[in-house]
Amino acid sequence: MAFQRPKGTADILPIDSAKWQYVEEIARVVFSDYQFKEIRTPIFENYDLFSRSVGETSDIVSKEMYDFYDKGERHMALRPEGTAPIVRAYVENKLYGPEHTKPFKVFYAEPMFRYERPQGGRMREFHQIGVEVFGSSNPATDVETMALAMDFFNELGLSNLTLVINSLGDTQSRNAYREALISYLEPQVEALSEDSQTRLYKNPLRVLDSKDKKDQAIIKDAPSILDYLSESSRKHFETVKEMLDALHISYTIDSNMVRGLDYYNDTIFEIMTEEKAFGSITTICAGGRYNGLVEEVGGPETPAFGFGLGVERLLLTLEAQQIEFPEEDTLDVYVVGIGEETNLETLKIVQAIRSSGLSAERDYLNRKPKAQFKTAAKLKAKVVLTLGEEELKNKEINFKVMKTGKESKVSLQDLYEDDFERIFNLKISDMTAFNEFFKKDE
Ligand code: ATP
Ligand code: MG
Repeated sequence: MAFQRPKGTADILPIDSAKWQYVEEIARVVFSDYQFKEIRTPIFENYDLFSRSVGETSDIVSKEMYDFYDKGERHMALRPEGTAPIVRAYVENKLYGPEHTKPFKVFYAEPMFRYERPQGGRMREFHQIGVEVFGSSNPATDVETMALAMDFFNELGLSNLTLVINSLGDTQSRNAYREALISYLEPQVEALSEDSQTRLYKNPLRVLDSKDKKDQAIIKDAPSILDYLSESSRKHFETVKEMLDALHISYTIDSNMVRGLDYYNDTIFEIMTEEKAFGSITTICAGGRYNGLVEEVGGPETPAFGFGLGVERLLLTLEAQQIEFPEEDTLDVYVVGIGEETNLETLKIVQAIRSSGLSAERDYLNRKPKAQFKTAAKLKAKVVLTLGEEELKNKEINFKVMKTGKESKVSLQDLYEDDFERIFNLKISDMTAFNEFFKKDE
């Protein structure tokens, strides 16, 4: 076939979708313990929302946007990340109003789009699960939200994760640091990559985020932002560390970590895996505080904190750590219909079973009984009903409980008129096998 999926995208096939559902289900359970409610925003937004909030000099905006002009000549973009759209929704829907609880906490699980060079763990369409908290500048919010991410990973059974934190300070801290960083980088400007050279004056902190090998060698000895924090930012960061200690959450500090998005201030963090499941990339979750963004997008001054985690990278890490996913639901009933003349009755039977609330499957290809039994076994059916010429004549069906091998007849009238789920449960929990076992001892 001539059609292929777009580069950097993936089909999530039925064989894998249970894993996605499981991860999302655990997220919903853990997030609800923290009182987060789900939010869903459009897949595309005005381009300017992202250029304004994520930042013109960020890789995301300068290189990775899926942007286009629609038929009304509006500049649109497929969303590259979740925070800016949610901030837009927060402002547009006045979610800061008095009728809403504070802090206002939401989570999302949605696809994101970035025009990147596809490789393991780096795709053009990928999925993020993330949270945002609006309206608290309490360091406890920073710590609880990081703890939430760790709880989620622990609940999935992941180990060997490292929480890395840093502080980008407030505006005052960053201005002071900016000066120091420019003074450090300027004498070596020739040695920097082209990208970093253009960023040096526009947004020098961006240089610290460079993935270029030569840049990284220079960055290694750069001054530390932690030495330039204002009094209030220093205090905030100290409290975050104390609170993490109090919860026995271990962490490391990387003063060169800046994150790829412009809107952060004070606490930022990444959660890394030691697994080399996707080459050299090891970050599965990242986030931080963004106190200025709501105002930037047109809302009232509102402190905020959030994170996003990559579901594809998470799944690769789960696989690398050989974490078992719970078994999928097995089939309740398989109906074996023998001979074409049973076609209609078989149809009625599976529909009756399904409307009683159980799952049912059957054969549609008029296959031999043996082939049908094989399918029933493959689907791990708990019960196999068999309808042959004989049964059809007697208006009954053969009921076999697969675990015990016990067989009995059920009249079609009972099957249709009684509550089938009741019959099913009665026969499945039949104590005869149990009783017979004990009879031997008498
Ligand atoms: P990186 O440094 O790996 O490019 P980033 O800083 O661009 O990551 P964020 O924007 O903070 O990443 O996104 C948060 C998380 O989303 C990442 O930690 C990662 O798990 C996931 N992620 C980001 N970009 C991609 C992508 N192109 N493909 C798959 N997952 C991604
Ligand atoms: Mg990136």
